[in-house]
Amino acid sequence: MQMIFSFDTEDYVDPVSNDALLGLAQIHTKYDVPACFGIVGEKARFLQTCGRRDVIEAVGRHEVGYHSDHHFILPDYSYEQEFIPEYLEKQSWDRAMTRLLAEESRGVHDVAEIFGRQPITWLRNFGDWAPQYLCAFARLGVPIFAYGPPFHNQDCMPIWYCNQLVIANPRITYESNLHRDDMTPQEKLAEHKRNMLKHLEGGTPRLGCVTHPTRFISDIWWEQPNWMNTVDAPPRRQWRIPPRFSKEKTEELLWIADEFVKFVSQIEDVESLTFSDFWPKYKTQREWLSRAEMKELASGLGDRMTYQYLDGEAFSPAEIFAVFAFALCELTANNIPIRHIIGPTDEPVDNSSDCQMRRQDFLDSCMEVEMFIRDKGRVPYAIKVGQIEVGPGGFLQAMAQSVLQESESIQIRSANNLPEPIHPDDYKRLDRGAPAGYIQKRSFDLSNIRRMSQLQYWTVKPAT
Ligand SMILES: [Zn+2]
Repeated sequence: MQMIFSFDTEDYVDPVSNDALLGLAQIHTKYDVPACFGIVGEKARFLQTCGRRDVIEAVGRHEVGYHSDHHFILPDYSYEQEFIPEYLEKQSWDRAMTRLLAEESRGVHDVAEIFGRQPITWLRNFGDWAPQYLCAFARLGVPIFAYGPPFHNQDCMPIWYCNQLVIANPRITYESNLHRDDMTPQEKLAEHKRNMLKHLEGGTPRLGCVTHPTRFISDIWWEQPNWMNTVDAPPRRQWRIPPRFSKEKTEELLWIADEFVKFVSQIEDVESLTFSDFWPKYKTQREWLSRAEMKELASGLGDRMTYQYLDGEAFSPAEIFAVFAFALCELTANNIPIRHIIGPTDEPVDNSSDCQMRRQDFLDSCMEVEMFIRDKGRVPYAIKVGQIEVGPGGFLQAMAQSVLQESESIQIRSANNLPEPIHPDDYKRLDRGAPAGYIQKRSFDLSNIRRMSQLQYWTVKPAT
């Protein structure tokens, strides 16, 4: 069994949380069990302003991941002060991306500068899995998405979604019993061992152990006295530190982690990894297709809209869409670029009846589509063909037919605008997995985000 230890490292209020972080990093170093510390940008700056070179150095021996710039609070007051999914829900895709890129680029930059290397893994913030986040982090050079979106958060098969490599697996956590008063530390440790062995014996291919260092110093969340349930943080000088455990209690909790990591390190059947270990194996390799290979993709597509394999490498429907558009515009080009574009970001047009057009008019539409892809990096939600508009699903099928045979008349049939799901209930799970819930106890209508997450199924493909 593979095992990944990860820590959502976010407390930038209490300096004592830095000691717990140091302790955890040292435990993992001591037993040679790698871990991933997903650092909040403001936490990295907090370590710096607290003068904690020792912590930065100890954490830097492990994978340094990323966990957003401010963890839900967005202090840029030139934007509306809203819970971020609420903001994403109301804004257009492009406006939402502009804000995310502006705010998150600071955190990615600062974590890279303070720890001396670029973080490549985003440890999902519980409430913020919206597809705009994934696309923004992919663009900021953070290509791995730990824990996964709602339709793929337990499944160990690595997939691509929104141009991020999704590494998900079943998870256990110290937090399941860390704060219980009715258990001794020995009983807590024994329960962690039992939970872990259950997965080992049950054949779980990969198990995660996910924890927050801040949980080792307090049973109150660090945001709670400051901005839980609100988007308006009080002025910074008024931030308060939640009540801490005694020093002995924290040591007792760290003892559990120490003993558990030691236990894991001694089991031969467990291979300890971290998220960045998956990158060399799964990152995309190919950059070009030949014309013959492009035709192979077209004949494989048939009537179904789904990812395709070519020489063992998978191509998402969005990537295939871009390949055909290019091939039909640059009719003599022999190197066809593989472009990692995203799916439509508006509701696709539903063409309910078939239509017929001359090849020249169709190629003209392909040219429009190709220019749109170059400008926007995504599949269009509507394509103008003559006097009507058609959706991308039918247009993809027509492009596949046209690259295979040069007939004078092209038929665009009505077709589904969403790819076939890998598992039958993937779309349902995306529709149910509301992205809010943690800091904001209010309920929002997030139907737009959920629909966007379905449209981005165009980017789904197995990682190979
Ligand atoms: Zn978090």
